Amino acid sequence: VGALDVERIRSDFPILEREFDDQQVVYLDNAATTQTPDPVVDAMSDYYRYTNSNVHRGIHHLSQEASEAYERAHDRVAEFIGAGGREEVIFTKNTTESENLVAYSWGLNELGPGDEVVLTEMEHHASLVTWQQIANQTGADVKYIRIDEDGRLDMDHARECITDDTAILSAVHVSNTLGTVNPVAELTELAHEHDALSFIDGAQAVPNRPVDVEAIDADFYAFSGHKMAGPTGIGVLYGKQHLLEEMEPYLYGGGMIRKVTFEDSTWADLPWKFEPGTPQIAEAVGLEAAIDYLEEIGMERIQSHEEELAEYAYERLEAEGDVEIYGPEPGPDRSGLVGFNLESVHAHDLASIMNDHAVAIRAGDHCTQPLHDKLGVAASARASFYVYNTREEVDKLVAAIDDARQLFA
Ligand code: PMP
Repeated sequence: VGALDVERIRSDFPILEREFDDQQVVYLDNAATTQTPDPVVDAMSDYYRYTNSNVHRGIHHLSQEASEAYERAHDRVAEFIGAGGREEVIFTKNTTESENLVAYSWGLNELGPGDEVVLTEMEHHASLVTWQQIANQTGADVKYIRIDEDGRLDMDHARECITDDTAILSAVHVSNTLGTVNPVAELTELAHEHDALSFIDGAQAVPNRPVDVEAIDADFYAFSGHKMAGPTGIGVLYGKQHLLEEMEPYLYGGGMIRKVTFEDSTWADLPWKFEPGTPQIAEAVGLEAAIDYLEEIGMERIQSHEEELAEYAYERLEAEGDVEIYGPEPGPDRSGLVGFNLESVHAHDLASIMNDHAVAIRAGDHCTQPLHDKLGVAASARASFYVYNTREEVDKLVAAIDDARQLFA
């Protein structure tokens, strides 16, 4: 796998040229949202300029074109993640809505007292809060697979947690706080051995590595457009066709029905059954363009570029001596983000000093409060990388840390 032409890639992202107080922005908040390259912005603005219309196959030319573009985007996503076809690809608002769709549609109907939902201690609130609340409503129990000292899942504990009482396992593919890459195929296999379903949160995985949902054998898999060079407002729920067919709709309305009478209604075919109302048409066009963009670079290349930067950042931060880094050491089960704390400085203060240097990082609980409780800290700082980041930008991050240390000494 050859290296990325980062300079060439950066020219597609004018936002990276922005300056604050005469300093060029160093954007290291990619795990929250990635930047959007010109081809994606162009695809969306072209859609609004030349194609904009409602979908659901209106009679006129524009509606036909908009419908085709919207439908085709499902095919493109299916191909990208190795799904069987558009029937298995539902467009949602984001990963969070994908979680809620399954929790409400499947969980609320299928779970009851005696059933167990198995999560991991590193779940994002998107899955943790959702399953916790659905379990509370249905009388099901929630169990958490422990993490070990290095921030990896304790797979012996996973084997203890997943039993014949397990109804569904919901696990994050890549942790947005620790950077851990979880063995999701193995977890799914464990779930299936006990006739349980598996839901994988791929919000931090699909943007930066090849993902094949059929190889993982996940029953459900979710991710967001805005973390993979695509627009906000669109997310994906992959689900196995036979499961989606059995599930009740999550939201009702126009566009998702087959036949409606004053008394009752029947549902449209997949995936439309789960996409009521006027959908995110321009965003679907943008997501397709983002997939084209990423695949042209190559997902393997993106993965190794990010891992290289994360490893460099890890080494530089470790060499500082007073920086605590969370998650596994660099290696095959660590992704392109680094969560850390500087001993003497609160993560929020650190992020604020970084901001004085135009270095954009995130500080807070990253929607993993229980995990932070377990780590024994209220907040952490997080630098996360993408295709356009460079080693020089990691150097600027470290220089800003040195500045923060001096200011607070
Ligand atoms: N899961 C993980 C692992 C995430 O990192 C995020 C985003 N921080 C989400 C879920 C939620 O994504 P969204 O806000 O797009 O719904």
